[in-house]
Amino acid sequence: MVITEIFKSIQGEGTRAGLPCIFVRLTGCNLRCTWCDTAYAFYGGTKQSVDEVIEKVRALSGGDTGRINLLEITGGEPLLQPEAPALAEGLLAAGYKVMIETSGERFIGVLPREVIKIVDVKCPDSGEADTFDMKNLEALGPNDEIKFVISTRRDYDFAREFTTRHELSKRVHEVLFSPVFPDPAGGWPGLEARELAEWILADGLPVRLGLQLHKFIWDPAMKGV
Ligand code: SF4
Repeated sequence: MVITEIFKSIQGEGTRAGLPCIFVRLTGCNLRCTWCDTAYAFYGGTKQSVDEVIEKVRALSGGDTGRINLLEITGGEPLLQPEAPALAEGLLAAGYKVMIETSGERFIGVLPREVIKIVDVKCPDSGEADTFDMKNLEALGPNDEIKFVISTRRDYDFAREFTTRHELSKRVHEVLFSPVFPDPAGGWPGLEARELAEWILADGLPVRLGLQLHKFIWDPAMKGV
């Protein structure tokens, strides 16, 4: 498989935000979201076997007094690589709690049931609307999370309508609405978290506002955190 980076950081998103976590970032993506903050993972990377990746994770996760047990497979789009399910399987067998962050365009049913899937549904102003594989709705389980990254009021209206129409809060552990963080280099604007919070409150939506915690801890332009 092709790997961009393996690193440890604080989980920045979802219901496990704030926890120490190992990240395995797989190279390549077939989408081009207008606000993508990991475009550096589109190309390059190094070829590594599943066993080599697991060995690196083991070495990285050990601390002086414990072991980081939470692990996220991310990208790019990790499910483009055929070895991704085998990697997840191997990491589960090694005792990690395994999460995967995916764009929603690939079918998540290829993954072991125990993997916690964080599945995006792309909103209109991402530039990648209508890429969600609707079969994923049936493949989601009660431990999984659905995420909408929201950059405009139009995105919010789409996310609210999709959440309500498909009764997402009954299907998954959590529905996440995350505002786009502005590009530090000025490439795209962000959405004020307060504005999104006020829309959610006005509609009484059963969703969780998600902020990218790591961008408040470290420089928002920093890689590998
Ligand atoms: S799916 Fe993810 S990695 Fe791919 S372009 Fe969109 S935000 Fe970037």
